[in-house]
Amino acid sequence: MPELPEVETIRRELNKKIKGKTIKKVKVLVPKMVNVPVLEFEKKVVGTRIKNIDRRAKVLILDLYGPYFLLFHLKMTGQLIFQSAKGKTISGGHPIKDSGSLPNAFTRVVFNFADGSKLFFNDIRKFGWVKLVEDSIYLLIRNEFGLEPLSDDFTFERFKAALHHFPQRKIKQILTDQALIAGIGNIYADESCFCASISPLRPSKSLKEAEMKKLHSCIPNVLEFAISKKGSSADDYVRTDGSKGGMVPYLNVYGREGEKCRRQGCLGIVKKIKLNGRGTHFCSVCQK
Ligand SMILES: [Zn+2]
Repeated sequence: MPELPEVETIRRELNKKIKGKTIKKVKVLVPKMVNVPVLEFEKKVVGTRIKNIDRRAKVLILDLYGPYFLLFHLKMTGQLIFQSAKGKTISGGHPIKDSGSLPNAFTRVVFNFADGSKLFFNDIRKFGWVKLVEDSIYLLIRNEFGLEPLSDDFTFERFKAALHHFPQRKIKQILTDQALIAGIGNIYADESCFCASISPLRPSKSLKEAEMKKLHSCIPNVLEFAISKKGSSADDYVRTDGSKGGMVPYLNVYGREGEKCRRQGCLGIVKKIKLNGRGTHFCSVCQK
């Protein structure tokens, strides 16, 4: 599943492409992936213009002029593909091999813009969704999520409070709890713990002040670095231009089970264990 860096990469690329465009036509091919009846959805969306593209946790937000917001969640296999009026495409999300011609068998919603360009929402497994909401609901959804690690809200005091919210829980469980900290999943929780030299299995209450500080500075650094590499393709993710994310070679522990630890001077081997059903990667020699 894409995490914050992957969704943020899509957001930045889409912002360059569709900001300011007017939606001329919309076609919903799979009604269950949209939160309102198709006719109502089409009626409310058509004619609106895109003010901005935002993100909250792993949710992409199209802020429309007028009362509505369009929210997208790509889940496991979702993909957003922009096609210019000339037919050149850029896509982001899960890679689908035959995405050459559009729409294809996995196209679920199509937005046609007034300038002839299009946005396709594709999803093989149909777990993704599009929601059309007004301000009040939008705020409720925004507030479902915890601290946004790349925002000014991510202060040390707030991070510490999030860690202490469930003192018995393991660090990794806290980092991946979307209600406490937004946008971090399996990959970047493991990478952040490695960066801070902390075992992801420790109860959160056991962290000393200095360790919490280190982790607090590691999280945005790890995420920003991943964004600079356009995200990871490790979990079925691809960028909006169809290329794979460039982060994979830089992952220190995720996906490196049995390989040598990359920390200088450490002779450990990266381990993979199951934690609450999720593969968790760490070096037990240098992550204490
Ligand atoms: Zn190590």
